[in-house]
Amino acid sequence: MKYISTRGQAPALSFGDVLLAGLASDGGLYVPEQLPTFSQEEIASWASLSYQELAFKVMWPFVEGEIPAEEFKRMIEEAYASFDHSAVAPMVQTDNNEWVLELFRGPTLAFKDFALQLLGRLMDYVLGQRGEKLVILGATSGDTGSAAIEGCRHSDHLDIFILHPYQRVSEVQRRQMTTVIDDNVFNIAVKGNFDDCQGMVKASFADQSFLKGAKLGAVNSINWARIMAQIVYYFSSALAVGGPHRKVSFSVPTGNFGDIFAGYLAKQMGLPIDQLVVATNQNDILHRTIATNDMSRQALNVTLSPSMDIMVSSNFERLLFDAHGRDSAAIADLMARFNAGDVTLNDDAWSFVKDNFDSYKVDDTRTCEVISEVFNATQYLLDPHTAIGLEAARKCWKDKSVPMITLATAHPVKFPEAVEKAGCESPSLPEHMKDLFERDEAYEVIDNDLSAVQGFVANHI
Ligand SMILES: *Cc1c(COP(=O)(O)O)cnc(C)c1O
Repeated sequence: MKYISTRGQAPALSFGDVLLAGLASDGGLYVPEQLPTFSQEEIASWASLSYQELAFKVMWPFVEGEIPAEEFKRMIEEAYASFDHSAVAPMVQTDNNEWVLELFRGPTLAFKDFALQLLGRLMDYVLGQRGEKLVILGATSGDTGSAAIEGCRHSDHLDIFILHPYQRVSEVQRRQMTTVIDDNVFNIAVKGNFDDCQGMVKASFADQSFLKGAKLGAVNSINWARIMAQIVYYFSSALAVGGPHRKVSFSVPTGNFGDIFAGYLAKQMGLPIDQLVVATNQNDILHRTIATNDMSRQALNVTLSPSMDIMVSSNFERLLFDAHGRDSAAIADLMARFNAGDVTLNDDAWSFVKDNFDSYKVDDTRTCEVISEVFNATQYLLDPHTAIGLEAARKCWKDKSVPMITLATAHPVKFPEAVEKAGCESPSLPEHMKDLFERDEAYEVIDNDLSAVQGFVANHI
């Protein structure tokens, strides 16, 4: 399978090349030239497969020809072996025909483990085949960094450097990163904010001369392989509630539009999906775009659901590509106009977006109310991101005979502030993390200075 850039000026690449490249050289995002599709009969025949077996069926067409089947099966087995539930992505019923899909059973307690546990292994394999090494450089405001570190720590061909804003991530989040002590893992606390960290990463990708010949790789959510791994749980959860013989709907707490885009792809690949609900917090550019064709940037709000505090959703470009009939010239033009301040889609593109997605926005007050209401009704504790998803599901649900599945993106222990504001008791850490606060930490505190950070990286590869 070939992958093409949404902006049409970068070369078409193979899976292995897309995996290592991340962003396309023309600034666009890679998407499959053509999606595989599965018949209803074929999907139905997967009903009794394990999560790992299903993952192979769904993802194989994307990697075929690049990675031997047995190797790919081994990577999938290893990637999900550390999850603490044998179903990998179990479901919990919260009301009649209403379900929560628990995607936080991995090592760092957020759904990003699904993609990053696999991504680290895929990269390591491809690099090993090519006899190459890669330096992973990323910035995190919390969940991505720890998931990326866990995914890459066992890699022979990767060094990973993660920047986080000094004293501006929660203690659980920091310790999930800094207590991973491995030769190839480096945590840097930058005396600045998240935007400073991200700015340094962008500048380093643009000019890699400080690396003296080594190459940088990205594990952020624009990497195609991350999207690919997230398609699987739409299939597994639909099968668990009677799909593909009946339609199902999904509600997804959304930030960079990666997770919900995977749901859209599952639908294109043949899974009968009724509604896809985009759930946002106060940072509502996606809700405004879908509901009123208003893509204007507004000041970033700090909320109780920080993993969705994003001003511009990078993966939305992949959807816009389809919404414009896969016309890459139109996308290059649109993104240039968007960056210059133009903020509306043409009527056809907006209709396409509205036909495929519903949306809803939830503020902090309502988020806490939902955590409290659901806990009182069911004794089930939601994290704030999932609470937003569940509220959006309830508000947008059109046909109550269609099962509604909300993606639970994080474990509530990661976000004690929201849980306590909701009047609930913060849960204790799961078994494999019980000693998190006693473990040794290692991280480097560095000034908010690009050359200081780059110097550190260059000295440690
Ligand atoms: C990353 C994240 C999200 C947003 O996912 P996107 O793919 O960026 O839309 C939602 N909830 C949690 C807990 C996250 O870590």
